[in-house]
Amino acid sequence: MKKIAVFCGSSKGFNPVYAKHARELGIYLAQKNIGMIYGGGKIGLMGILADTILKHQGKVIGVIPSLLRHEEVAHTEITQMIVTKKMSKRKVKISKLADGYIALPGGFGTLDEIFEALTLGQLGIEAKPVGLLNTNGYFNPILDQLELMVKEGFLKESNRNMLLVSDSVTDLLEKMQNYKAPKMSKVINKVVTK
Ligand code: AMP
Repeated sequence: MKKIAVFCGSSKGFNPVYAKHARELGIYLAQKNIGMIYGGGKIGLMGILADTILKHQGKVIGVIPSLLRHEEVAHTEITQMIVTKKMSKRKVKISKLADGYIALPGGFGTLDEIFEALTLGQLGIEAKPVGLLNTNGYFNPILDQLELMVKEGFLKESNRNMLLVSDSVTDLLEKMQNYKAPKMSKVINKVVTK
């Protein structure tokens, strides 16, 4: 993986452990020479992660819709900023650039982005690893919900297993490096490539 898209809070969270883990991921990506693609903000965990990578001579690419660019939230020091017309175009751009996706703790934006990445994998449109950094057990209730979805017949176990989870940065990245996407049925491939 040369570039990973990271989705995370535009807030820091109350517990300092979230910022600590964001910094840990930033150092790891910079040291391994893996570029980060993200929402382009300078606030919350997003800003902490971007600042840490830059401090360690890593590469940070922001993809921001023009609507957010003129707010005070856009990071001005990053390696490259790509401005898109719309939020939807931004997502397409991020997925074109990224070899994989990671979510750190966050809110609606983070969940929206990571579930979209999973949906692309489920449909076989993409075969990229999707990882959840489960700092402080933050995502446990969501993981329980995924179990329930499998149990109640709304999610295939094989699709649930596409989501790679760990509370350790190195372990998560190892899982992502070794990821093999499940084989899709021919029918799905046909629908998707139409
Ligand atoms: P949230 O989890 O609701 O705080 O939203 C964070 C996620 O949504 C990030 O991964 C960003 O891609 C996107 N996002 C939300 N707010 C902003 C912002 N002000 N600037 C850039 N991206 C943002």
